[in-house]
Amino acid sequence: MTFNSLNLTDPVLRSLKEEGYTNPTPIQSQAIPVALKGTDLLACAQTGTGKTAAFAVPILEILSKNQSRDRNRKIRSLIVTPTRELAIQIDESFQNYGRYTGLNTAVIFGGVNQKSQVKKLKQGVDILTATPGRLLDLMNQGFISLSNIEIFVLDEADRMLDMGFIHDIKKMLAVLPKKRQNLFFSATMPNEIIKLSNSILHNPTKIEV
Ligand code: AMP
Repeated sequence: MTFNSLNLTDPVLRSLKEEGYTNPTPIQSQAIPVALKGTDLLACAQTGTGKTAAFAVPILEILSKNQSRDRNRKIRSLIVTPTRELAIQIDESFQNYGRYTGLNTAVIFGGVNQKSQVKKLKQGVDILTATPGRLLDLMNQGFISLSNIEIFVLDEADRMLDMGFIHDIKKMLAVLPKKRQNLFFSATMPNEIIKLSNSILHNPTKIEV
């Protein structure tokens, strides 16, 4: 299978070509068509399998089809991941794969001054990648609204629970719009993860690689 057969639009295909990607990895060839249909996804996949593009490509496709171009654009996709390193990598991937889409991205994480992150948010962001603590912090200060989220990604869910983020995740879920698409990724599927995924996902398609 090639990326050409996944029905992607030119802006996304062009950047993938420039990245040197010709064939989707197994998680990408399974997840991209499902996510493009608007279906919820429960994916069991490790880092290194290409899982970032598995969610970034369909998000870029869906959001670029109808987008606003002003500074007042609302955050339409939220990716929550456990560590600063992962958050930075994910945002870089969105920037790379989305460079011809006109969509704006931002990344926020703790342990650094919030000033430059807040400045970026004020410029108008379509896709936000965040670690849980800083996300709640900036939400509580009124710098972030999640009321327009269309696609929510929980990345490395098992690691997130191991790091004690479950309460932060629950608080965040409580303010997300009820009607949204959810993409859930975890390297392992212990009972707590299955319970959490059941509380988030609606009729998910399950993928294991
Ligand atoms: P990830 O699992 O998302 O962290 O991706 C692991 C690595 O694989 C990253 O360096 C990506 O740039 C690379 N990668 C992802 N998808 C593809 C692809 N379809 N073809 C070649 N390399 C890829």
